[in-house]
Amino acid sequence: MTTVADTASGLRSIPRSGIREIANLALTIPGAIRLEVGQPDFRTPDHIVAAAKRALDEGWHGYTPTAGLPSLRERLAGKLRRVNGIDAPPERIVCGVGGVGVISSAVAALVDAGDEVLVPDPGWSNYRLMLAAVHARAIPYPCPPDLGFLPDLDRLEALVTPRTKLLLVNSPNNPSGRVYEPELLRRVGEIAGRHGLWVVSDECYDQIVFDGSPVAPGMVHHADAERVVSCFTFSKTYAMTGWRLGYATGPAPVVDSMIKAIEGSASGTTTMVQKAAEVALDGPQDRVAEMVAAYQRRRDLAVELLREAGLLTVVPEGAFYVLADVSPARLGALELAKRLLAERRVAVAPGTAFGTVAAEAVRISLASSDDDLREGVGQLCDLVNGLRR
Ligand code: PLP
Repeated sequence: MTTVADTASGLRSIPRSGIREIANLALTIPGAIRLEVGQPDFRTPDHIVAAAKRALDEGWHGYTPTAGLPSLRERLAGKLRRVNGIDAPPERIVCGVGGVGVISSAVAALVDAGDEVLVPDPGWSNYRLMLAAVHARAIPYPCPPDLGFLPDLDRLEALVTPRTKLLLVNSPNNPSGRVYEPELLRRVGEIAGRHGLWVVSDECYDQIVFDGSPVAPGMVHHADAERVVSCFTFSKTYAMTGWRLGYATGPAPVVDSMIKAIEGSASGTTTMVQKAAEVALDGPQDRVAEMVAAYQRRRDLAVELLREAGLLTVVPEGAFYVLADVSPARLGALELAKRLLAERRVAVAPGTAFGTVAAEAVRISLASSDDDLREGVGQLCDLVNGLRR
């Protein structure tokens, strides 16, 4: 009989995302308000959906080159130049199965078994799964509440050892919503340069930034571009999470290895999705602006409610999350999230799902209707403040 011990050690020992536990419980509670989910509540814009249907009708049914259609990579080169200020020829651009697909292929291209990788705490939990799959060690670097959930660079640098290979940076950040200033990114780049580290810059929320900024500043401007891989996705900008298309650019040898990793795992991405993505890039961008405006309006709403209740941590500048301080309840984030769901029918993501640093916070998703957000955040504030001792 097959036992657990027969499975590979890296993934066997690592838990699945802590958000799942709450999400699974929420499924058993009819009418629960779902503020734990991390995906846009909008439909993909109609002209992109129509383009996918057209691609099927036109017979785009076969494989594409592993890195993606040349016509798409051509357009991505234009987007990277126009929006992100990155000058990358199409040959140095690779498409993958979502942002997660290109980030994990970058990890596979750069990291050997036993290497150490610096990951943000709090940070997106999938990084740990990718690292476990290649038998690398995740070393969390603190982004503490007293620094507004920005990285503590002195402590980050002190964590570097001879085994450290890679530094993962995520701005706009999930779960804090912080957008790193160019100066901070420059200093992160300096640390990487001093220690010969690679940087994987997760910029999957690059176009979801508030207060008039057209785009989040990219890592590439601030680090030694020779050692940076920048990763993006269609999931967030165009509300295309289920379509699974991401893209990345980096130095040619890394991109070559990333293509091999993708060749061995997915053989490329779905052809009709690539055709639809071309139309997403070519077509009108007003739906993107509307969605960002909605996230900003909801950010303002959540911030106001949390501030009034004394539970605001920091004001997010991008992505679509806000962290609420639940320390007054003295329950810990997971227990508080469970009680909020059981007693108030509101699901939020416990900070413990993102590491140890946000253990007294919960993440609220702004990708929910204004009404759900108002009701859900109101219930959260009421519960936490009712438990204050
Ligand atoms: N990076 C971060 C920080 C995320 O939160 C996500 C999705 O939630 C991704 C990358 C990848 O998104 P996808 O694989 O859906 O494109």
